Amino acid sequence: MKKIGLYPGSFDPITFGHIDIIKRASKIVDKLFIGVPLINKKKTIFTITERVNLIKAVVNDFNPDLKKRIEVVSFGGLTTNYCKKISATVIFRGLRVASDFEYEFQLAGMNYKLNSNLETVFLMAEIQNQIISSNFVKEIASLKGDLVQFVPNVVIKALKKKF
Ligand code: ADP
Repeated sequence: MKKIGLYPGSFDPITFGHIDIIKRASKIVDKLFIGVPLINKKKTIFTITERVNLIKAVVNDFNPDLKKRIEVVSFGGLTTNYCKKISATVIFRGLRVASDFEYEFQLAGMNYKLNSNLETVFLMAEIQNQIISSNFVKEIASLKGDLVQFVPNVVIKALKKKF
């Protein structure tokens, strides 16, 4: 049976940190959905369509074998319900700094209560990618700083249009 996973997130915008996690997650499952929730409690600078399209542009540069196992989607409602819908049994989340832990720990626990067929798997990016966050990327972009170490070119272009 094919193993299906979901990597949910705001991806506002997608960074090398996210890409690192996507590549690792795709080694663990046969099919990986990258899912952007339609409703986000965080205020985003990119619209849902822009965020999905940026992820799609990034995935499009992956090698063909990897590309065909990845699907970029937006979804409404509970993450756990969406997992049921796509038959995903694994949720992937990334851990960066210790401060991520508390929130992620609770989220994983609550999701497990909502659907006990679902396991959350935490992955860590390579050291140089661990420090990257979408929030700092946006701040650097607003101050016209250099972003080449943090996000792909397509994202740099999109950020330049925003700021
Ligand atoms: P959310 O709003 O759902 O936290 P994000 O886009 O901020 O969405 O992050 C999605 C997931 O990717 C989260 O699990 C986050 O911890 C993880 N993540 C983001 N950046 C990195 C990074 N640099 N290294 C590892 N994981 C990361």
